[in-house]
Amino acid sequence: MESALGGFLEGEAGTLRYPVPVFVIEHPRGLVAVDAGLHPDLSTGSERLGPLDGPFRVQLPSDGTGTVGAQFASAGFDPAEIRQVIVTHLHFDHVGGLVELPNARIVVQAAEWAARNDELMVSSGAYNPDDIAHGHDRLEVEGDHDLFGDGTITCLLTDGHTAGHQSVRVRTEAGTFVICGDCCYLRRTLLNEHLPPFGVNRDRQLAAVRRMARERADGAALIFGHDPAQWETIERDGLTTAI
Ligand SMILES: [Zn+2]
Repeated sequence: MESALGGFLEGEAGTLRYPVPVFVIEHPRGLVAVDAGLHPDLSTGSERLGPLDGPFRVQLPSDGTGTVGAQFASAGFDPAEIRQVIVTHLHFDHVGGLVELPNARIVVQAAEWAARNDELMVSSGAYNPDDIAHGHDRLEVEGDHDLFGDGTITCLLTDGHTAGHQSVRVRTEAGTFVICGDCCYLRRTLLNEHLPPFGVNRDRQLAAVRRMARERADGAALIFGHDPAQWETIERDGLTTAI
């Protein structure tokens, strides 16, 4: 997608072209996705964005190869085999692709789910109620949550961007990663504690950024929410703790 840089870093001029990442984690108890990206209809038209059509320019390939289902399939994973999908939050660019993960249980913070019909979020187009209306099973969690009880995949409450935003810590043989989501859009968000102009609670947003800094100090590699420079290194070198 592309939109104003000032939406990521308050006060900055210009535009930013950035990735909308989705993740799949292979766990012995089944495939777990983190976030679902954009709705497939956005491959061929922008009407679905509603009020955000214009401020946000979607650049999904028109041949459909950019959707979560196509991306997972091209990486060798059957989207129908995704058992769980941890959603960092309910913004349209994180849950639009749920329609392509039909058999996944949604794992969401209870506070985020409770805010799904928030008038401002819905009227602004940030939440699209249709994105989450496919009848998925759902697990609502409150605060930090160890998904399998084995320490490999842990939801971390990092609210402030939205009412119940969460990040995801993943321990692998290659090291520990934290998928920040939108509590930390960019490396500069972290290094300069430079917040966006939007968010439901600025103090909590700052606390979330600092929590990510602590995770990093403890040895985790952070995967930022929408950082084009970091994504370039991931595309070039793969996902390593050197990011
Ligand atoms: Zn967001």
